[in-house]
Amino acid sequence: MCLTFFGGSKASHTPQPYWHPAAWTRSRGLRHPKSCGCNRSCWVSIVVGCGGLGSHVAQQLAYLGVGKFTLIDDEELDVTNKNRYVTAFAADPVPGSAKVNLARRQILLINPKADVIIVGEELRSSSAFRAVASGGYIFGCLDNDGARLILTELCAAYRRRYFDLATEIIPSDRAVYGGRVFASWGDNGCLVCRELLNLAEARRDLENSAARQDRANLYGVPVADLNEAGPSVVSINGVVASLAVTEFAVAAAGLRRPHTLLTYRGDLGRVTVSADPAPTRCYYCHEIYGTEDAADLERYLLDREPA
Ligand SMILES: [Zn+2]
Repeated sequence: MCLTFFGGSKASHTPQPYWHPAAWTRSRGLRHPKSCGCNRSCWVSIVVGCGGLGSHVAQQLAYLGVGKFTLIDDEELDVTNKNRYVTAFAADPVPGSAKVNLARRQILLINPKADVIIVGEELRSSSAFRAVASGGYIFGCLDNDGARLILTELCAAYRRRYFDLATEIIPSDRAVYGGRVFASWGDNGCLVCRELLNLAEARRDLENSAARQDRANLYGVPVADLNEAGPSVVSINGVVASLAVTEFAVAAAGLRRPHTLLTYRGDLGRVTVSADPAPTRCYYCHEIYGTEDAADLERYLLDREPA
């Protein structure tokens, strides 16, 4: 499969930027620079994961005026999600509510003219890979390091600008809670060389789905509960999503580059900015970067066709 060849997202997206006159006025500082010349096609947003973080991101991007979305998630809403998914409501049936459909509904309620493509499959699918490779800003709203590692490699290979969002609660007598936003911009490192990703944990996450199912059966809890390792607190997700969308907005509008790493410590009530220089050597940043189809990312696909 040639991801570049199938990179039809730009062609299939009909540019339909939406700005309510009031929003236009109040968001003047975030208007798209005319110098870009892309007719806002570079404002395509691809949200990978439409759960606790991704639901906030989709909602905020729609309010911000982004008119073109691709939403990627293969899961359905669970009753335990309803305390924090801003795209879900009490009447939404469980089972029967795909997370991508909930996010699409929210976007279209805000902006009926939005162009929303849904990929109701997991990241390790041909459809999801094509969507990520084909263009736009990537918002990784994932809950495991295995998927983060794949998305890191995919974004590096196809030179995608990638915001990775993460939230965490570490329980103890004095709980540590918060999150971070990392913006991978092509020349400032990645999650791996910045040591923001646990490779051992990523390897465990990349076990085949059958093994994960066995583990779920062993513990006697739904798989969805095991996958949902992040904190079940809407406000923490909201803070981190807001940081990411703000960094996107100022960067897309040409005001400044996004900060490489913002770290939110809710327990301390502060957000810090990392000024560390990018590592000089990294397999993903230097060997994989820009190699596109030669990176052989098909090896990760779960729906890969037999040779
Ligand atoms: Zn790197």
